[in-house]
Amino acid sequence: MAWLRGGKAHCANPPNPPPGAPWRLVLLGAPGVGKGTQADLLCSRLGACHLSTGDILRAAACTDCERTPALEAALASMKAGALVSDETILELVGERGRCLRCCGGFVLDGFPRTVAQAEALSRFLEREGVALDVVFSYELPIEEIVSRLAGRRVCPKCKAVYHTVMQPPTRPGICDACGTALLQREDDKPETIRTRMRVYEESTLPLLAWYAERGLLIQVPAFGTPEQIYVRTWTCGRTAPDAFRPKSPRGAAPAVGGGAHALSARRP
Ligand code: AMP
Repeated sequence: MAWLRGGKAHCANPPNPPPGAPWRLVLLGAPGVGKGTQADLLCSRLGACHLSTGDILRAAACTDCERTPALEAALASMKAGALVSDETILELVGERGRCLRCCGGFVLDGFPRTVAQAEALSRFLEREGVALDVVFSYELPIEEIVSRLAGRRVCPKCKAVYHTVMQPPTRPGICDACGTALLQREDDKPETIRTRMRVYEESTLPLLAWYAERGLLIQVPAFGTPEQIYVRTWTCGRTAPDAFRPKSPRGAAPAVGGGAHALSARRP
């Protein structure tokens, strides 16, 4: 929310990270692959801040703050399943540059989405004197993703996410956590899903090569439950040819019951 209120706003939920160096991660993957769920798991276990440009734009759409023409245009692009302009997104992220050097670290979800955004991110990070540890790319066949998106339902109040078949709420259409009526995201409608997939392939897939060239990319098959994918994230990290080596240890975790320190054993 501090992001929405502008560059000078104070963060209402400062992180409470475990001791050690912060993790600075980027999550890539097609819409609906489960990046948001993984971002939540990673953040809660690493004590990092979840920065999602999509969440910020959705929150902006729901607030009654005055809408600038740039915000109106951004929300229209979003509704159509197209990308918001690099200029608008970079202004949004650039305003909160200091979040990038937050002592809790960060998990970027949905940003960057184009090579131009990745180049800008690397300039922002340089300006703040920090660097990325790793970029996880979550991967699934496109048909699987389309079925996940079409069945996704979200709670507009507490943001809980359900799936009509794979993870239905106890009472159809009602959030288990807070009793609010669930919604289908505007951009999860079938015709918009097709546009988002095309946009992903054209604009975001080239980022994989961009980060691979820089030795930061780890590819993670995204099938299974969120917990299985979370564990696989760290397994892939350890076994990849360019296994990531953050500068100094913080207990990170394939934390199935293991707490947030299990991964430190693999550190150099
Ligand atoms: P997400 O929740 O990350 O899937 O984002 C939802 C929508 O917000 C996308 O389909 C885009 O319209 C817009 N959006 C979010 N992040 C970006 C970004 N980094 N660049 C361009 N558009 C974005």
